[in-house]
Amino acid sequence: MKLERFGLGLAKGLALTSKHLFRKKITTEYPDQKLSTSRRIRGQQFVWKEELCTGCSTCAKSCPHGIIEIVTARNSDNRYSVEKFEIDIGRCMFCGLCIEVCPYNALFLGRSYEQSQYSRRLLWASKEMLKLPDSARSAYGHAEIEDQIPVQSLLIYGQLSSEMVEKNDN
Ligand code: SF4
Ligand code: SF4
Repeated sequence: MKLERFGLGLAKGLALTSKHLFRKKITTEYPDQKLSTSRRIRGQQFVWKEELCTGCSTCAKSCPHGIIEIVTARNSDNRYSVEKFEIDIGRCMFCGLCIEVCPYNALFLGRSYEQSQYSRRLLWASKEMLKLPDSARSAYGHAEIEDQIPVQSLLIYGQLSSEMVEKNDN
């Protein structure tokens, strides 16, 4: 006679459920709690440092999609100022080439992964929208800033701790 008829299968199922009931928590309450991404994530945003940018357009020339628009003007002291610096993020594939080629460390990818919008028009980033704080920067192509970025949360290795979860202030 098969033991399953006496509820062995049910007991096995309950034992497995009980095992998971008491194990360490590996989930977070997104979006109230967010995990830290990789320090070198190619996020869906850019951080542009106007004070470092010379308007050389190396980034724009390296972009395979041609989605970086730069307009410069010559000042009275024979230096160039950047009048326009815009990126059509809706068409960006986040390859990171523009970041890698900038000779003046003026362009960074950001770490945000929540940039969805209802209209593509809203994904066109103007100069002002690209002037984000240093804390938004990713270390992609900029290993020198890696130490300034929170360590990545790795749930699969059970390394989640309160310090590794970024609180959502929104
Ligand atoms: S971001 Fe860098 S590569 Fe692009 S125009 Fe400015 S200095 Fe040149
Ligand atoms: S990440 Fe790639 S596709 Fe996006 S703007 Fe830079 S070079 Fe262009």
